[in-house]
Amino acid sequence: MKNTGKLLIIFILVLFVTMTPVIVSANTNARTLKELRNELQQLKNKKAQQTADKNATKSKINVAKNDIGNKQNEIETNTKDIADATAESEKLTVEIAEGKVKLDKLVAAYQIAKENNAYLDYVFDSKSYDELVYRSALSEQLMDYLNEEITSWNDKIDKNEKLKVDLAEKSKQLESDINSLSSSIDQWGAYLNKLEEGAVSINEDIKSTEELIKYYTSIGCSETEDLEKCASVKGDTGFIRPLKKGVTTSYYGYRTLSSGSMGNFHSGVDIGGNSEGTPVYSVANGMVGKIIRQYSCGGNMVYVYHTIKGVQYTTTYMHLLTINVSVGQAVTSQTQIGTVGGGKGTKSYEQCSTGAHLHVSLATGWYGRTYTTSSQWKAHLVDPRKYISIPAKGVWFYSRY
Ligand SMILES: [Zn+2]
Repeated sequence: MKNTGKLLIIFILVLFVTMTPVIVSANTNARTLKELRNELQQLKNKKAQQTADKNATKSKINVAKNDIGNKQNEIETNTKDIADATAESEKLTVEIAEGKVKLDKLVAAYQIAKENNAYLDYVFDSKSYDELVYRSALSEQLMDYLNEEITSWNDKIDKNEKLKVDLAEKSKQLESDINSLSSSIDQWGAYLNKLEEGAVSINEDIKSTEELIKYYTSIGCSETEDLEKCASVKGDTGFIRPLKKGVTTSYYGYRTLSSGSMGNFHSGVDIGGNSEGTPVYSVANGMVGKIIRQYSCGGNMVYVYHTIKGVQYTTTYMHLLTINVSVGQAVTSQTQIGTVGGGKGTKSYEQCSTGAHLHVSLATGWYGRTYTTSSQWKAHLVDPRKYISIPAKGVWFYSRY
C-alpha cells in the first residue's frame, strides 16, 4: 500500500514535469534572440552593479559601527573626566574652607598684635623690635600666601566647573552623532534588504531569460528572426510522413533472414513505391543538423533536429539522390529536404541500397549536439512507426498525414 502510494506520487510528478510547458514566462520585450541576449547582458550588468552597491553599503555600515564604538568610548572617557573634576573640586572646597579658617585666625592675631597697646609698648621699648617686625611681616606674608592659595583653588574650581560643562556638552553632541549614525545604519540596512530582494528577482529574470534563449536556440530560431513567429513555426506537436505516397518495405529492428536466424540491425523504416527524384520532406518543423554526402552505406544523408512538445529528436533521411538543404537551415514539415535515391542514380558510391527507396530513422536527442558518436546515436534510436503514421509492410499510403 505504501509502495503504491509512492509510485502514484512519482507518476504524478513525472506527469507534471512532462506536461510543464517549455516556454518560461519572462518580463521581456525582446522580439529576437539578439535582443534577448542583449536583455540578458543588461540584467547581468545590473546584477554586477547591485553587487557593487551592496558591498559599498555594507562597508559604509561597518565604518559607521566603528565610528559609534569610538564615540561611545569618548563618552565614557568624558564621564570619567567629569567625575574626576567633581572629586577634585570637592577636595579643593574643603581645602578652601580650611584655608579660610587659618586666614581668619591669622587676621585676628595680626589685628591683636597691631592694636594691643601693651603689645606695642612691649614693641617700642622692646629689644625684640626686630622680632615684632619679623613676626608681623611673616603674618602678612602668610596672609598673602593663603589668600593667593584660596584664589588659585577657587580658580581651579571654576576651571573644573567649566570643564565639566564642556565635557557634558561634548558628550551630548556625541550622543546625538551616535543617534544619527544609528538611524543611517537603519536606513542602509533597509536599502540592503531591498537590494537583496532585487537580487532575487534579477536572478530569476536572468534564469528565465537564459531558459528562453536556450529554448529558442533549441528550436532553431536565428538571431534576428521574430521569436513569436519562429516559435509557432519551429516548435511542433508531432510528426507526419516524409513522402506523399509509398509503401513500407522493411521495418526497424533486427531483420529475420530467410534461414530463420537474426540478421543485421536495421536502424529505420524503408519506404518504397517512389522513383528516384521524388521529393522527400522533413517529418516535422526543425533545423538541419548534419549532412553526410555519398557515404558508402547510406549515400547522401540528412539529419534534422526537432523539438516536439519540448522533447528533442533527430530524424535521418538516407539514400537521397539530391540534397536540397544546408546545415543550420530552419525547415518546416513542408520543406523539401531532398529527393529519393538509392537506385541507379546513387549506385556509383552506395553499397547498401539496391533500389529506389527512402530510409527514415528516428532518434531521441540531437545527434551532433546532445551526443556526437554514431554508437550513441544508435543507442538513442527508436522505432519510427511509433511516432510517425507509417503503415504495416505492404500497405500503401497516399497522403502525408
Ligand atoms: Zn533502410
